[in-house]
Order: sequence, then C-alpha cells, then structure tokens
Amino acid sequence: MTQRPTPRALEQFWSKSVEDLATLVPSTMRPGESERHRMYSLLLMAIVRLQWNGNKYGDTGDYGRWRMEQRLMSTPSREAIYRSGTYLGHNIAALAVNGDGHVIDYDFNHNNVFDSSVEHAESRLIRRIFSLDQLYEPSEFFGRGPNARRRRFATRADDEGKESQREASKGVSTTQFATLLNDVTVYTSLESCAQCSGIMTLASVKAVVYLQWDQGQFLIGNIMYQVTRGAELGFVSPLPISGAEIELPYFSELNKGNDEFSQEVGKDPFFKGGGSNRNKPSITSFLCTDVALAIYQRAADEFKELTEVTVTCPEYTPDGATQGALSNAEVRSEVRDFWEYARAINNRGTAHRV
Ligand SMILES: [Zn+2]
Repeated sequence: MTQRPTPRALEQFWSKSVEDLATLVPSTMRPGESERHRMYSLLLMAIVRLQWNGNKYGDTGDYGRWRMEQRLMSTPSREAIYRSGTYLGHNIAALAVNGDGHVIDYDFNHNNVFDSSVEHAESRLIRRIFSLDQLYEPSEFFGRGPNARRRRFATRADDEGKESQREASKGVSTTQFATLLNDVTVYTSLESCAQCSGIMTLASVKAVVYLQWDQGQFLIGNIMYQVTRGAELGFVSPLPISGAEIELPYFSELNKGNDEFSQEVGKDPFFKGGGSNRNKPSITSFLCTDVALAIYQRAADEFKELTEVTVTCPEYTPDGATQGALSNAEVRSEVRDFWEYARAINNRGTAHRV
C-alpha cells in the first residue's frame, strides 16, 4: 500500500484553506468566567514579575535603551551591571488549576539551567503534576508550612476514588493517566509551542489560556485543537483561549510591545558585548525589556489590589463544576493564598527533573 489514505482527523480540512484550519471562533464568555480566568492570569503575571530576570546575555554588558531601568548602577561607560544575577531561563511561566479551581503548581522556563532548548514551562509543569500524583498521598504533607501547598494537586480522579487511580498507577491500566488531568486548565504567559501543545494534548489538559501571542509557533495549538476535537482519537488538544477572550488588557500591550521591539531591534541592538551585537527579533529578548517588565509590574500591582470588593461575580462557578468547586469569591482567596506560598518558596517552581 503506497497510496496513503487521508488521516481521519484531517478529512474535513483536506481541501479547505490553512486559514480555515488554524482559525478558531473566539469563545463567548460570561463575565464570571472571564473574571475567573483573569484572576489566575494575574496571579501568573505576579509570579513572573516576582522572579523577573532580564539577563539573557549575562548580567554585564550593554543592553542599550532596552533595559535602562534594570541597571544596578549607572556607569560612565555604556557597559553596566544589571539586576537579578545569573539567567536561569526565559521570563515565561505556566500555572495549572484543577476543575475545582485549586491551583496545583507553577513552573518556569528552565532552558539555561539545563543547557537545553526544550525545558519549557508548560512541558515541565505537566510532567511535574504527573510525578506529584505518584509521590504524594492526599493525607500527607498537609498543614506543614509552605509544603502544605504541594499537596494541592487533587484532580477529578480523587473524587472518583484515589485507590482506583493508584491501582492504575501500578501498571494495571493506563486509562487513568489519560484522564487524570482532563479537568485541568493551564495558564501560560506565552502561547505554547508544538512540544508543549503535544504534551498537554497527551495529558488531556482541558484548556490553555495564553497571555501573549507567539507568532513563531504558527498557531499550532489552534491547529491541534481543530483536528482533534470531534475526531474520536481518544485525546483532544486543550482549547486555546487568548488573553483577548478573557479581556485581559495586558495581552494587547504585550503583543504591541513585542511588535515594536521586533521592528526596532535591527537598528538598535538588544545587547552589545563579547564582540557581538544581538539584534535579531526574539520574543524572549523582548521579555527581558523594560517595556515588558512594566507591563508585568502593572499586572502584579492589579493582582495585589484584588479584594473581596473587586470581585464582580462572587457567586460564579463554572458550568458542570463539581460540588466542591470554588466560587469566584473563593478563587480570589485561593490565588492570594497561592501567592503567599509562591513568595515563601521564592523560586522558579519546585526544582525537579522532567
Ligand atoms: Zn513550549
């Protein structure tokens, strides 16, 4: 057989345009739903701000006008020392939330820690959640200082009986692995790449909310969602939800800032040092600039001002949510509570191998 049949998932798109394949109809959201997504998104932006490090090409050299605000001191020469020390990875993070609305954990991009181009936030986060589920019993590690947060990984599998899930973990069946995260929403500060979209798909993540476009990833999340939904493949890619759909103002600010950076960096290099000019448009370079930092700072400020009074739909819970699901008023407490945890551990996610 040499004439390959069209894969079933692609049949309905086979003779349509790429635009048809890659374009999603924007979701129409009730105010309570978008408010809920915004609270988790603001938490994520506050955590990125907390761990901000713009020293992509080292903490000494000349980042020109792009990072004036991040200099430790001004010197007569253009060479300067910049805040935050060693660069561990890009200013990109992801946060996972279970179906009840509890934050499970967060992780950052760790490319520079591991000298690798694949240590992305979402990919690391998903692998960590699977390992958490193997490591911790729900009754353990509760109420012991900051570590108490680490057991907040409960997913729907817990409601259905942890025992059966644990039996499955021993190799009896892989079915439970495939459905363990199917009520989880991932919030990522930058639109996901092919690797992370693939990992989230195989993990059955329900939705992925992204806070900035990454044009370099060619809408792969949209494409994967389109071809997998309704195709009866046994897995469906997470539904991509943009910051615009949840009315997050920082979404368009980040996109605009990156666009301007891309246009200007050719003639005004991002970094000069070590005998080379770094002047290629790069979204991870943009995410080191004062412009990006200021946007994250405003989001962090807004996050810190979230109070009971600022929640406009306090009673809201998602459609089809389980009985224990948090209302938006409770989500506000949850995100503030998790913020205290993130501040207490003060790192770029719990250290772990993938
Ligand atoms: Zn990725």
